[in-house]
Amino acid sequence: MGATYSSIYQGREAVCATKHRKEQIIGPRMAHLGLRMRVPLDLDTDALETFLGEVPRLGSPHEVVVRKARLGMVSTGLPLGLGNEGSFGADPAVPFVAGDHEILAFVDDELGIQVTEELFSSGTNFACQVVAGIDDCRDFLRHARFPSHGLIFRPNAGSPPWPLLAKGIASWTEFVDAVGRCAQASSDGLAHVETDMRAHVNPMRQRVIGILTERLARRLAARCPSCGAPGWGLVGVVRGLPCEVCGGATGWVREEIHGCPRSQFKETIPRSDGIRVANAAPCPWCNHQAVGRPDGHWLLSPGGGAGGICCRAGGPWNQELDEDMDVPVTQRS
Ligand SMILES: [Zn+2]
Ligand SMILES: [Zn+2]
Repeated sequence: MGATYSSIYQGREAVCATKHRKEQIIGPRMAHLGLRMRVPLDLDTDALETFLGEVPRLGSPHEVVVRKARLGMVSTGLPLGLGNEGSFGADPAVPFVAGDHEILAFVDDELGIQVTEELFSSGTNFACQVVAGIDDCRDFLRHARFPSHGLIFRPNAGSPPWPLLAKGIASWTEFVDAVGRCAQASSDGLAHVETDMRAHVNPMRQRVIGILTERLARRLAARCPSCGAPGWGLVGVVRGLPCEVCGGATGWVREEIHGCPRSQFKETIPRSDGIRVANAAPCPWCNHQAVGRPDGHWLLSPGGGAGGICCRAGGPWNQELDEDMDVPVTQRS
């Protein structure tokens, strides 16, 4: 579970805003910073939850996760808080592959910082299916890892709010009962079944939250070289990694921008994974005999790639691309 870190949070207590026993995943990993978790008893994070589609979520996932941490801080009076939020769906990079996008926020109101880490993982059972009975869905159940992972049932046809909704189904007896009741209540005689993504009934999700927590703990142990505040880490990237063949700037990341959540001090460093050139296969300069440019000029690359001379002189295409990541990974309150 990783090393113990030197930390300004040694002996401190933070609230873990959860109703789904996430403190059991987050707590042992934050203990490496000397930080103890407290779970508020009267927390209403359901007001922020989107699972089950019962409550619409207001704001971006980053805003929701910080708001969740703050709910816990208000409830306990602690100046330190953690909040987590997961969203599930198609992987933006690989369509048709389900993904789990987790965000974990740490808020420190004494220092006035918010540190957010996020992780996208294809290690999820996220799926749904319409069924009449068990024989319809044996493949689905294998994929969903039932019964070690929970399921949610509802009538397939009808209008919300669902009068019949069975959550956290994790036994064959409950399964048969839920399918029967939901199918009977549905005008088409079918039940809609989906994976229950709440952390306490989804060990695959627990694993992703665990990895993300380790990442956040490492980040909170990293100090700003300028002001010494915790939370030093990746806040953006510079694209334009040179192609291994032609040297042209590609869309791959060339450098990392690391920053401080408190002083906003930043440093740009080469990729930390040591990769210094991009594969030529997807290089836009090597792989086009003649490509029309938006400015009406033509890009020429003779000889099918290797050794090709890219016509890249001047123009916006030869610019160094310097852009922040799509999603801010660190914010300041
Ligand atoms: Zn700083
Ligand atoms: Zn190239």
